Amino acid sequence: MPLPLSRPNVMIIRRSAFIWVMSIDSRAADMLSKGFYKERLEPSECEYLLTFRDRSPVANLAISLADRLTRAECGDTGQICAEIDVSTGPCPCNCRFCSYAEGVTSARFFEIEDSVLVRYVQELNAFSDVRRISLMTIGDTDIDELARRVGIVKDTAKRGTQIYVNTRDVTSDECRILKKAGTYGAYHSCRIGEGTDTEIKEEKRLETIDNLVSAGLSVIAGTGPIGPEHSPKELTDAFFKTADRRCCGADIYAREPVAGTKFNSIGKMSPSRMSQIRAVFTLATSRYDFPINEPFRGTFVQGHNVSYAKYDSVKGKDQLYAARRRLFNNGYQRVMRADSGTNDLTLAYLRQTGSV
Ligand code: SF4
Repeated sequence: MPLPLSRPNVMIIRRSAFIWVMSIDSRAADMLSKGFYKERLEPSECEYLLTFRDRSPVANLAISLADRLTRAECGDTGQICAEIDVSTGPCPCNCRFCSYAEGVTSARFFEIEDSVLVRYVQELNAFSDVRRISLMTIGDTDIDELARRVGIVKDTAKRGTQIYVNTRDVTSDECRILKKAGTYGAYHSCRIGEGTDTEIKEEKRLETIDNLVSAGLSVIAGTGPIGPEHSPKELTDAFFKTADRRCCGADIYAREPVAGTKFNSIGKMSPSRMSQIRAVFTLATSRYDFPINEPFRGTFVQGHNVSYAKYDSVKGKDQLYAARRRLFNNGYQRVMRADSGTNDLTLAYLRQTGSV
């Protein structure tokens, strides 16, 4: 049985001299309580929780509980993940929501030079506080070349840095090549609209996730790209497609409007609704048993404890500073080091690292 929240379930909002008291749906409150105390939430319960509007008492409580859970699970320790584009440009896969799709993109073909990759990683090493480096590619990547670049990062990065790849669908053999080269994990998404808004079948995406997991890689599964038109059922179906495939984490992301694509005019999901969606799925998977153990992991769904920095020569350093500040501003007390230790995340630390 879920431990009940204190009754009556009311939320008090103060604004100036006025006080409104808004009641909270007791069925939803019981579901949220279940998630907070690490009992499984069924897909139908997630759907129900997502029928409430963002900023409603139910949505606000979900966000608060998910945040408390994440903080408790990671011991108030955040982690920074740097993303480096290594092979990008017009992509022949032509997914109908993507800025790299051949039919709409203005991007040029780009292959990172080895010396530039080494320099970026050396810069990221400066304070030993980048836990994860992800190498980003598009849908026609040469896996042998990606593996070679993984080797460069492994030879240059601080000991313990987790190297992730974000790449096309891969076979079991290709997963083994990546693993042997030093890859720790991979990000892979079974996108909403797979097979209709993409040329790739859903089964292929899921098979890749299974191949990555079987090769012993830590897999972060993506749920998205989420747009304002998606119903609670569509969101829930999309999330649970990958939730029980022995992944080590999940990332829930909004669709970016891209000029020239069919979704451009629909716009972007609001940040408050995205927070609500992440919170519901965080609570739904609070009892998740991680296949790989590591300190200060956090919850299955990545929250504010994971801060991203897109690293390049133009704004990379600013992005890294901002990633540290986000963790600090969100109240995290420590930042995880590459070697699994921690640095205290204080104002003095922000100043020492040039982040303020
Ligand atoms: S495979 Fe990836 S990079 Fe290529 S079009 Fe699809 S989303 Fe974009």
